[in-house]
Amino acid sequence: MLIDTYGRVATDLRVSLTDRCNLRCTYCMPEEGLQWLAKPDLLTDDEIVRLIRVAVTQLGVGEVRFTGGEPLLRPGLVSIVERCAALEPRPRMSLTTNGIGLQRTARALKDAGLDRVNVSLDTLRPEVFQTLTRRKRHQDVLDGLEAARAAGLDPVKVNAVLMPGLNDDEAPDLLAWAVRNGYELRFIEQMPLDAQHGWTRDGMVTAGDILATLRTRFDLTPEGDEVRGAAPAERWLVDGGPARVGVIASVTRPFCRACDRTRLTADGQVRTCLFAREESDLRGALRAGEPDEEIARLWKLAMWGKKAGSGLDDPSFLQPDRPMSAIGG
Ligand code: SAM
Ligand code: SF4
Repeated sequence: MLIDTYGRVATDLRVSLTDRCNLRCTYCMPEEGLQWLAKPDLLTDDEIVRLIRVAVTQLGVGEVRFTGGEPLLRPGLVSIVERCAALEPRPRMSLTTNGIGLQRTARALKDAGLDRVNVSLDTLRPEVFQTLTRRKRHQDVLDGLEAARAAGLDPVKVNAVLMPGLNDDEAPDLLAWAVRNGYELRFIEQMPLDAQHGWTRDGMVTAGDILATLRTRFDLTPEGDEVRGAAPAERWLVDGGPARVGVIASVTRPFCRACDRTRLTADGQVRTCLFAREESDLRGALRAGEPDEEIARLWKLAMWGKKAGSGLDDPSFLQPDRPMSAIGG
C-alpha cells in the first residue's frame, strides 16, 4: 500500500500524459515562453502502462485519472486506456480534459474502457472564453462535452475556475446550463499553480463567494461528509436534487487530512501533492532496468514522506517550481 506517516493511504493515481496544451488558460500558463519537457524525458506509452501496472497490481491503486497539460494531445491515449483496462484488478479510469478533440475521440475512449470524464469549461460566453484561454475554441469544447455524453461516459463533469472581473458573475448561469444538460458542475478555487506566479489570496474567488452567488438563484442542500469520503469536492443538492453541484475549495477549506492521491508527472516523477516541492524519480529506475519490486519500493518510500498538508496557510509557503500544467491537474 502507498501509506504515509499520517496513516493516509493513496489509492487514486493522477497521471500527467503531457505538459503541452492547445489552450493558454491565464490561471495555468503564460501566453508564451513556457519551456516544454524534452521528448526523450517524457515517459513512453510502455513506461506509463508499466508504472500504472505496478501501482494497480502491487500498490493498491484502484482509480487512475489521466490528465496533463492536455491529455488528448497524447497520440497513444486510447491504447494506454485499453491496456490499463486489461489489468487485473481493472482500475476505474477517468480523464480530465479541456474537451478539444473529444468530439472525435470520446467513442474510442469509451470503447477502450474509459469510465468517466471531466471537461474544463469556465464560461458560456465565447468572448470570455477567448480572454480566459487565449484561444477561439469555445464551440469545440461544447461539442466535446456533447460527444462525451453521447458516447456514454458517465458522469460527465464540468470543472470551472472563476476569475474576478472575468467570469465570477457566471456561476448561476453555468449551474443552470449544467443542470439542463445533465452535466455535474464543480467549481475549483484558483490555486497558486500558475506558471507566471500571479496568484494572490486577495485576488481569488473563494468557495464562500461562489456559494453565496449560487444561493441567489438556487436552493442548495449539503450532501454531508459520509457521502464525500476522500473526494475533494464538497457537494450540494440543487433545488432538492437529483442534480448536484460541487466546490473544490483547496485554498479556503483544504481537505488534506482525507487525501488519497498520488501523482505521476509526464517525465516519470512521483509527487505526493500538487503543492509538494520535492519529487521522486521513477523514470531513472525504469530506464536502469530495475524490476517492478524496486519501482514499487521507491514509490512507497516517496509516499511515506508525504507532508501533512499543502502548506498554503503557512507564511513560509513557496509555490512549487512546476506549474499545474507540468504537474498534472
Ligand atoms: N488540460 C486539461 C484541463 O484543462 O482540464 C487537464 C489539465 S488542467 C491543469 C486540470 C484542471 O486544473 C482544469 O480543470 C483546470 O481548470 C484546473 N486548473 C489549472 N490551473 C489551475 C489553478 N491555478 N487553480 C485551480 N485550478 C486550475
Ligand atoms: Fe491547458 Fe488545462 Fe492548463 Fe487550460 S488548464 S492551459 S486547458 S492544461
